Amino acid sequence: MKNAEKNLGALDLFRLAAALLVICIHTSPLESVSADGDFFLTRIFARIAVPFFFMTTGYFADFSDLRKLRRPLLKTAALYGLSIVLYIPFGIYSGYFNKFSLGAALRMLIFDGTFYHLWYFPAVIVGLLIVYALKKLSAGKALVIALVLYVFGLLGDSYYALGVRALPLRMLYNVLFDLFSYSRNGLFFAPIFLLLGSLLHRKGSNNAAENIENLGGLAISFTLMTAEGLLLNGLKIPRHDSMYVFLLPTAFFLFRLLLSVNIRAFPLVRQASAWTYIVHPIVIILLRGAAKALHKQNVYERHSLLGFALTAVFSIGIGFAAALMARRLSGRRTECRRARAWAEIDLAALENNLRVLRSRLPDHTELMPAVKADGYGHGAVTIARELNRLGVRAFCTACASEGARLRRSGVRGEILVLGYTAPEQLYLLKKHRLSQTVIDFEYAKLLNKFGGLRVHVGIDTGMHRLGIPWEDFDDIAAVFRMDGLSVVGMFTHLAADDTAFGRYRDFTERQAARFRQVAEGLKALGYTPRIHLQSSLGVLNYPELAADYARTGLALYGCVDGEIGRELKPVMSLKARVSSVRGVKRGESIGYGTEYVAARDMRIAALTIGYADGLPRALSDGRGYVLINGSRAPIAGKICMDQTIVDVSGIDVRQGDVAVMIGSSGGMTVTACDIAQLADTIPNEILTGIGERVMRII
Ligand SMILES: *Cc1c(COP(=O)(O)O)cnc(C)c1O
Repeated sequence: MKNAEKNLGALDLFRLAAALLVICIHTSPLESVSADGDFFLTRIFARIAVPFFFMTTGYFADFSDLRKLRRPLLKTAALYGLSIVLYIPFGIYSGYFNKFSLGAALRMLIFDGTFYHLWYFPAVIVGLLIVYALKKLSAGKALVIALVLYVFGLLGDSYYALGVRALPLRMLYNVLFDLFSYSRNGLFFAPIFLLLGSLLHRKGSNNAAENIENLGGLAISFTLMTAEGLLLNGLKIPRHDSMYVFLLPTAFFLFRLLLSVNIRAFPLVRQASAWTYIVHPIVIILLRGAAKALHKQNVYERHSLLGFALTAVFSIGIGFAAALMARRLSGRRTECRRARAWAEIDLAALENNLRVLRSRLPDHTELMPAVKADGYGHGAVTIARELNRLGVRAFCTACASEGARLRRSGVRGEILVLGYTAPEQLYLLKKHRLSQTVIDFEYAKLLNKFGGLRVHVGIDTGMHRLGIPWEDFDDIAAVFRMDGLSVVGMFTHLAADDTAFGRYRDFTERQAARFRQVAEGLKALGYTPRIHLQSSLGVLNYPELAADYARTGLALYGCVDGEIGRELKPVMSLKARVSSVRGVKRGESIGYGTEYVAARDMRIAALTIGYADGLPRALSDGRGYVLINGSRAPIAGKICMDQTIVDVSGIDVRQGDVAVMIGSSGGMTVTACDIAQLADTIPNEILTGIGERVMRII
């Protein structure tokens, strides 16, 4: 669905190049060498930079929902706010705020930026909001409108003299340029590039033919853009020169080309280039001030190669320093949380598992992930929000309060409560638009009396836990006729789908046939609810039973054994610290109860995790093991509430080292399935048993 994340390295590197191009615009390095060269560099070539930044923002933004746009909007607003504060002294000094009025302030804030290069931030904000609105239309219409806006901007920018030939346009631009200084702003400039970036997000693979197309397209469009810039300037048509016709295909092919380069991401470079962009005007001002103070204006001549080089070196230096500092600060916060026992949640693994499951299901089957029991211990809100972001529109929970919690955290879509909701809690269903399972006929009557509820009818086809028995067709049909209920779905649960053959297959197929029979009977009466019966193992072992929804839990968290399990990646790892290392002599006992006796001289280590954190006590006395520095360390003695002792003989271990209960260390891996097997249970119990005290780190 997404371009593989590993392809984003070229985007990161080009950001730094683009920041350098912006520095070029503000320092004109070639001016003293060649006026034409400088014109080409700063007024044509460097004009690629800002559209590229817009496209990257559009590429990463999710326009499907205003809530999801909150992140890029807030981030841009925060950077803008910070820059405003940084630049206030310089703005005052340079007389930027001299003619102050409320109108002027607003104009400056929304369109022109509060300092000369800061217009970019409000342009992103305005542009994102416009594209959000455009995205409600079809892609074609959105593109046309964004293009019209761009053309309008063009006529006020490098095609100005042509634009104002028509009297109405001249009058219009007169009014507009009272509102803002340039048309290269969030209204006319940003939308088309943000939109193009977001459209490219859907594009998947790249192949040789496409690369040739990108290279050729880039070369041709950039040549045409150069010709366009030179021609317009020769004819003295531009009012300003940020926007060209051929800037559109140039930026488009450049971006596609960068996406096709297969190198890993450089987050540090990404952050550093943002800081470089923000601070470079300060560097210019300070360097100029310093040169003046030292009577060395000739050394820091702004419009010179040396001036450019000094500005670039200082800006990039500060950029990386700021990025490193920010990383250090956030790193320290994370490290604090890794003090004792913690669970790492890998959202990339979740996305991978989602992709694998979707590929196993027909297109018409929608996933309805189970996020009950706090998302199998992973954090229900974290998981459901991320899945929402990845396009999942349905969830199931065990109870109404779990559903309510998701809603309060902004989770959208269908939320089905699988279990019993007590009459006192029925109001939660209505308040949070949750769907309730009809767990038997009596319960249906109760729900009906309460009224106004969405339900999925549970059908008992052989598991004998919940649902109206499949034989009671008249009762089932009666539920569909109840006035107080809106029946949107119907499901059953498979009791033996963890095995794909033998009597388990017979049993599962019998359940499926019974369910199908009920569905067909209802269809004859004109009722066609959305039906579902598979859970994780149902999808993997009985793909032919795919219906309207698949209620997958375990597989999404990457905890399934076997062949398919290798494609899935565990989302959670569980880790703790070595708190103490010591030796014991042969014959000495270790831990509570003195039953576990050292068979030889041993080195043992205490770990900062116990059964209260979810390490099953059944793994005591050598039944289980953990990984430390790439080696297995068997559990010695009884697991305690908060601590565990392990045998580290022959392993190089120090106080403070990390012990891995679930996850990888060196080349070795322990999965929740492995632990479950050793503890004679199922991985669900392991995952949901991980204690509240264990910090979840995303
Ligand atoms: C928990 C649950 C599921 C999800 O099961 P997994 O095996 O984790 O995929 C599906 N359906 C019902 C009724 C459940 O209770």
